[in-house]
Amino acid sequence: MIYPKEYGNDPLFPQSSDFRVEFKNHVAGKGVVCLKPFKKGQTLARLAGEEINAMREHSFQIGKNKHLNDEFFTGFFLHACDPNTSINTKEHIATAIKDIQPGDYITIDYSDTEDYLFRQFKCNCGAKKCRGVIAGKKEMPRSSLSVTGYYDDDDY
Ligand SMILES: [Zn+2]
Repeated sequence: MIYPKEYGNDPLFPQSSDFRVEFKNHVAGKGVVCLKPFKKGQTLARLAGEEINAMREHSFQIGKNKHLNDEFFTGFFLHACDPNTSINTKEHIATAIKDIQPGDYITIDYSDTEDYLFRQFKCNCGAKKCRGVIAGKKEMPRSSLSVTGYYDDDDY
């Protein structure tokens, strides 16, 4: 089990036999690695967490002023501009939108769900359509990221 017992026993919850939260690097932090293959279109897991009305570092947006704070699983999905996973924010379901191999990190497009990001950042995901600076769908990317002092391209 990845989620604590209090969350209940939904068979669709992520299982530790299928996923592992692990440290990727000090820029990306932790990510979620798949331990088994998933086919495009396949459900990865049902997501759970605390519903809150303001974003936090590991929350994702599920509605206007509604965020699901999942510090066990979803909170560690990494960003990619051409991701392998999408989140249905109504059903709280993560679905593979590409074939996923064991060892792949789960990636989502943060700008898909978030109006504003907890922290904008420079992306170096390598996708042809990489947007360069990642921001929420309702905010303009800051031209200078030195404001955050957090991300550094040299770390990739
Ligand atoms: Zn990118």
